[in-house]
This record gives sequence, structure tokens and C-alpha cells, in this order.
Amino acid sequence: MRLRAYAKINLGLDILGKRSDGYHEVKMIMQTIQMYDLLEIKKKKTSGISLTSNVPYVPTDERNLAYKAAKLLMDEFEVQEGLSIKLEKFIPVAAGMAGGSSDAAAAMIGVNRLFQMGLTDRELMERSVQIGADVPYCIMKGTALAEGIGERLTSLPALPRCYVLIGKPSVSVSTKMAYESLDLTSVSVHPDIDGMIRDIQAGDLTGIVSRMGNVFEPGIQKRYPVIGDIRRLMEEYGAMKAMMSGSGPTVFGIFQDAAQMEKAAAALRDSHLAKVVFATEVYNRNGGTTNDK
Ligand code: ATP
Repeated sequence: MRLRAYAKINLGLDILGKRSDGYHEVKMIMQTIQMYDLLEIKKKKTSGISLTSNVPYVPTDERNLAYKAAKLLMDEFEVQEGLSIKLEKFIPVAAGMAGGSSDAAAAMIGVNRLFQMGLTDRELMERSVQIGADVPYCIMKGTALAEGIGERLTSLPALPRCYVLIGKPSVSVSTKMAYESLDLTSVSVHPDIDGMIRDIQAGDLTGIVSRMGNVFEPGIQKRYPVIGDIRRLMEEYGAMKAMMSGSGPTVFGIFQDAAQMEKAAAALRDSHLAKVVFATEVYNRNGGTTNDK
């Protein structure tokens, strides 16, 4: 069985505070994009899980989120057969695009089908938060508001027609480090997430883009100025707005026009500021893109 594990960007990312259990209370607008890892999962005769990956620095044992997610379900259902997972990664690692969480989501969806466990998406989402706060969203996909630690989800209408350019510099940022170095008392500008929700409901792309903001960006950009360089280049080449995704360092730009985005992609490649340059679109819950309409 082959499955796609889609990457996400955050159109808006706000952090409201730190909870007593150490987790942060977030308020984010999530958007799935047409960039994905591939998972091939199969039953195997010997028990246990074996995982291979095309990226040497991603763990292949129980530290891998896809492994962990598969094991969670297989233990609960006392599956005696074994499972092999072949993971082909295209989503940059430690990039703020939920690559690992999405692999975990795809593994859960796949294992549920392969071993005919009969769980609904909602039931998978409830279990998946044990793997990571973003995993329930990666099962749900599309455009959504994420609250709580990221697991409280409200589905939103699909975005209006637009294009997304991804630029990931060669640096990697661990989400843990990003949270640890965030001083909430010094955050002076919080994105207007409620305003963005209204704009999404109204299908107003200009409004949505004007409210894009990420509380992690100033701090991470200070440490890695290349993030600002990529952002400025995208905007010079016609992005309506560009911003860092998640805890970084990936930058994405929103374009109204595909040709304009291709020009920006070419300029970004020529600049050598980004190690990964990927021109794409949003992915909607129905499986298509907004631009298919
Ligand atoms: P997020 O946007 O959720 O913060 P991220 O893009 O910053 O995620 P990931 O690519 O998901 O980060 O991975 C971060 C770390 O998790 C990696 O350094 C890696 O060692 C580990 N990891 C575990 N499983 C995976 C996986 N399936 N793919 C990538 N990394 C994984």
C-alpha cells in the first residue's frame, strides 16, 4: 500500500502562553500543500516493524515518528504479523513543515487499512496526539484552525486560487529549540488569527495574506538572517507576502500568478540562498487543489 504524507505551512502562528504541563497554547492557521513524502507499507511474515528511509540522518527505529505511530496501533490491536515501512522523504527535515508528523499520520491511516482495524479518522486523530501535537491535523489536512497544543481543530473553507513557493535554507531548526528560545513577554506583534479566519470564510486572498504572521519569525530570523533574505527575494519577485513556516527555517511565499512564482523560483535557485526550492500549490481536503476548481 502506497500513501502520501503531505507537508503543511502555517499561514498564521500565534502562541498564547505556556501551560503548567510545559506545552504551549497555540492558535494557528494550518494549510496542507502539494509536497509529500511517500510511504510504502506492507505486511511481513516476521513480527515487529522494520523501516527504511532514503535520508540517512532520519532515524529508522522507534524514534521515527512513522514507526512510533504504526507501533501505537499495532500494540493496541495486538497485531501478531509484522510490518515493513519504506519511507521516501521529499519534505525537508527539521524545516517547520511537519514532515515527521505527516509521516506518522500516513502510517496510522495505512496501518488502520492494512490490518482492517476499522477506526474512523476521528478515532485515529484522538490516538495520534500521543505521537505529536501536529499529527491530528496531518490526518485531517486542508485549511484549519489549530488550538490547544495544536490538536483542537476546526475545519475552514479552502483558500482562494493561489500558488506557494517553498524555500528552505541549509540550516535546520529544532522545534524544541525554537520554543525554548521564545520569550513570549518580548513578542510585540501577534498575528490577527480571528481576522484571518473571517477572510478565509469570505474567500478574500488579499485579506488573508495581509494578516500572515508568525511569532517565531523575529527570533529565528535574527539567528539565521538568510530567512529574511529569502523572504525579501520572494517579495521582490512578486509574492503577495512571504513568511517563515512553523518554527522554521522554511520560508514560503504566496503568489496570485503561477508564471510569477516560476520567475521567483528561478531567481531563488540562482541566488543559492535556499537548499530546497519547490514551486507548488495548496492541497485541499477533497484531494484536489483550489486551482482545479
Ligand atoms: P514541525 O513542523 O512539526 O516542527 P519539523 O519539520 O520541524 O516538524 P521534522 O522534519 O518532522 O521537523 O523532524 C524533526 C526531527 O524528528 C528530525 O530531526 C528527525 O530526527 C526526527 N524524525 C523522526 N521521525 C521522522 C520522520 N519520519 N521524518 C523526519 N524526521 C523525523
